[in-house]
Amino acid sequence: MPDTEPPRAPRLPRAALQIGGRFTEARDGATRDTLDPASGATVLTVPEAGAADVDAALSAARTAFDDGPWPRTPVQDRARLLERVADAIDAETEELAWLETLDTGKTLVESRADMDQIAQVFRYYAAEARTARGDVNPVPTDALSLTVHEPVGVVAMITPWNYPLLQASWKIAPALAAGCTFVIKPSELTPLTTLRIGEMLQEAGLPDGVANVVLGGGAAVGAPLTEDPRVDLISFTGGIVTGRRIARAAAENVARVALELGGKNPNLVLADADLDLASDQALNAVYYHAGQVCSAGSRLLVDRSVADALTERIVDRVGRIRIGFGWEEATELGPVISPEHLEKVQGYVALAQEEGATLVAGGGRPSDPRFAQGTFLEPTVLTGLPHDGRVAREEIFGPVLTIETFDGDAEGIRLASATRTGLAAGIFSRDAARAMRAARRLRFGTVWLNDFHPYFPEAPWGGFGESGIGRELGRTGLAEYQEEKHLYWNLDPEPVGWFGKRDDDA
Ligand code: NDP
Repeated sequence: MPDTEPPRAPRLPRAALQIGGRFTEARDGATRDTLDPASGATVLTVPEAGAADVDAALSAARTAFDDGPWPRTPVQDRARLLERVADAIDAETEELAWLETLDTGKTLVESRADMDQIAQVFRYYAAEARTARGDVNPVPTDALSLTVHEPVGVVAMITPWNYPLLQASWKIAPALAAGCTFVIKPSELTPLTTLRIGEMLQEAGLPDGVANVVLGGGAAVGAPLTEDPRVDLISFTGGIVTGRRIARAAAENVARVALELGGKNPNLVLADADLDLASDQALNAVYYHAGQVCSAGSRLLVDRSVADALTERIVDRVGRIRIGFGWEEATELGPVISPEHLEKVQGYVALAQEEGATLVAGGGRPSDPRFAQGTFLEPTVLTGLPHDGRVAREEIFGPVLTIETFDGDAEGIRLASATRTGLAAGIFSRDAARAMRAARRLRFGTVWLNDFHPYFPEAPWGGFGESGIGRELGRTGLAEYQEEKHLYWNLDPEPVGWFGKRDDDA
């Protein structure tokens, strides 16, 4: 077997759309190959939905919501189903991790970590469903005023290619906990684990029509899902350009919309930082999943007094990063998702140099012929990036670290804040109060102090400004899938006689 082929094949999901509890081909028989970005080989040929399939999936979800048992299923039973799914994910972690690695190119180590997180998300929302409470409101009359939570309805979920099952689980678990039904469309580039979770939900006993999976491109399948008046909530994770389009489509139907659109995430190293820690985390921040992370810390901002020492440590480590196929246990950096994306990332490397930055590591394709068919890029570092160019503002979404310097905390905070896409930021300092002062000034959805990247089902995730609308995870992540309803009961009703008074009434 050539050493560019994985040594084993994971269990593949059924290559079928999932509509109303049935696994089907596309009505017009269309298909698409899903490729391994590391080798360009076809992993599975899957159906490609058309308008009729999207229509059928939405009908199924609508009927399951309006007439089916799920929205009225007791929360305890909904929670038990979520726990069964979590158990099934745990039991199948290795197979799911292999599928994700083949589809996305990410390392098995990362895919396994994703699966662990995904099971935790299902368990967390099972617990949230069980313990969620409404309110008794303090109204001033002899009455009972209650706030209760109800499922928002039919959800259209659109997910990206960088964390296919993780992003799906952040939507599916709270939606099911709330009692919603849904149609999910994964990225056409990475459908495999979404197909499998659809099967697993059905195996766990979810009623027909609650979970529907359609596959296909953004324009052909994603857009009709977001434009349909049968949809109550659109939950989208992806790029800003698509996010804007979806917000416009939602406005037309006054549908609820939740957007997670990524960011330009600064990683701020103050003059008193522990440089061993900061350099180690600077690598985690940007090279995790080859930089294709919405919260990637690709923009390193360093106090000038420590910039040379930090850069030296970083460049030394970058030179030792092991590029490889995701399924090789020693691999630290896999390919990027597609040839088009590789070109885009390389474009930013070229642009940074045009803007005045200096390439100090990587920048090209690896020379090893084993990687010739894949979309690999060397881990790249650019220093001296000007603060006011496009590269300092735009999301690169690849294994490219840019370094800018600043003089003093105030300037660092000002530069870090110069973005409309405030998803996440990091701050490194030995002084907790100094770091916390800086953190309070930054307008980002998450600020990590002396760390980069950790997220938890219990804590909210989302961004300020153009980085999105709403929050996933945490309690707010459940609230996205709920409507609040006010129930009012007058305990001492008496006629008020305001209207149609007789002339002799007082
Ligand atoms: P997109 O935003 O185009 O893709 C995300 C999802 O939206 C995919 O499922 C896609 O389908 C779907 N989609 C595309 N067009 C429409 C539409 N008109 N209506 C409804 N759904 C649609 O991201 P790209 O793959 O093009 O990546 C572009 C950039 O976005 C990246 O370079 C990166 O900067 C950023 N990005 C951010 C992510 C994040 O986690 N926040 C994730 C992915 C990308 P399909 O892929 O099948 O066409």
